[in-house]
Amino acid sequence: MNRWLIENGIFVTMDPERPKLEGWMAVEGRAIAAMGAGEAPEEERAKAKEIVNGKDLLFMPGLINTHGHAAMSLLRGLADDLVLQDWLENHMWPMEAKFTGDDVYWGTSLAAMEMILSGTTAFVDMYDHMDRVAQVVELSGLRASLTRGVIGLCPPDVQTAKLNDAIQFARDWHGQADGRIRAMMSPHAPYTCPPDYIERIVAAAHELGLPMHTHMSETAAEVAQNVRDYGVRPAEHLDRLGLFSRPALVAHAVHLTDEEIALLAERGVAVSHNPVSNLKLASGVARVPDLLRAGVTVSLGTDSAASNNNLDLFEEIRLAALLHKGVSGDPTAVPAAEALRMATVYGAKSIGLEGVVGMLKPGMKADFIALSIAKAHFVPATDYVSHLVYSASGADVAHVWVDGKQLLRNRELLTMDAERIRFEAQRSFERLRQ
Ligand SMILES: [Zn+2]
Repeated sequence: MNRWLIENGIFVTMDPERPKLEGWMAVEGRAIAAMGAGEAPEEERAKAKEIVNGKDLLFMPGLINTHGHAAMSLLRGLADDLVLQDWLENHMWPMEAKFTGDDVYWGTSLAAMEMILSGTTAFVDMYDHMDRVAQVVELSGLRASLTRGVIGLCPPDVQTAKLNDAIQFARDWHGQADGRIRAMMSPHAPYTCPPDYIERIVAAAHELGLPMHTHMSETAAEVAQNVRDYGVRPAEHLDRLGLFSRPALVAHAVHLTDEEIALLAERGVAVSHNPVSNLKLASGVARVPDLLRAGVTVSLGTDSAASNNNLDLFEEIRLAALLHKGVSGDPTAVPAAEALRMATVYGAKSIGLEGVVGMLKPGMKADFIALSIAKAHFVPATDYVSHLVYSASGADVAHVWVDGKQLLRNRELLTMDAERIRFEAQRSFERLRQ
């Protein structure tokens, strides 16, 4: 198996036993084989087919984006500065109704390219035409948890057809692309799916052995609607419908009571915190410090580029570290290291990949990135965790590897045709706009 070596590098590992390392790392096949401080041992150098000089590079685990709708990159900048329901119902849904499989393919390709260029190595995607999304994941080399999100505001036969589509997608693609693709099951949200439909989706997830993903309590209005329609708030509603009887990841969870936070902690439900999207749509500020204190796994998501408007997860990391300080008046809320864990270790845990990705550690998958640090904003060499959170951006990412394979070299994409993707994405948008 191909074994190669990085030497003279700085490694922010996210491994609590060895958080920072100046030294070397060996990769064999798809996994990290060995790491050490100082100069690489002669036997490691002898075993390596290739030796990469890590000078002026900072290596860290690839970032994990735990909520998004990649194909909506086609709608970036189309409708800004609107409230969520108006934005969704009058601007997003009419355009999305026109999406063909090809539009999804090129929109997702555009998103995949942007994610690789900003250091994301794994992402969660909830959308339609998921076969086309999976094709992009396969080709790009990224890792992804994919789910056909279903909206149940339709006649029963259409509901059934959508659910069958989600089941078929999971059967066809779970474990594909050398195991880089995993499937989830997704009712879009409690306010877009009747209770009996959610129960059917949960039953299918049990049968397939898959985790659940949904939007929950993004806005105060949808929480009020849930209470009006079902007599309980969304977390209790979903719990009663059995959604938390599977491993579950909920996006947003902005409006929570203490009781709901306790319930999420008890059921082991993970939360994808999407600060930029929540701010842009004025949805509110999630109670992240309270969630973390309660022991809830909180990871980070961009949501789509239609409500963000980019997929640079470094922005979410910085905002997760800043926002909760500002709101609480407590500068110790969400410290830098915790914000970085949200994008790596906790991201992995949110998608069932704890101990597989999210850390640089021998035995774990070789999903990692290298930032170019010979730049003004990385000087002086005080604390690289601080620099990554408060000073870096996706534009600093020079190299990306997933599953041991290099996807980006000196900011050049190795698996995707950037010019073609930009052209096709623009062409898709112009057709959709007609
Ligand atoms: Zn979303």
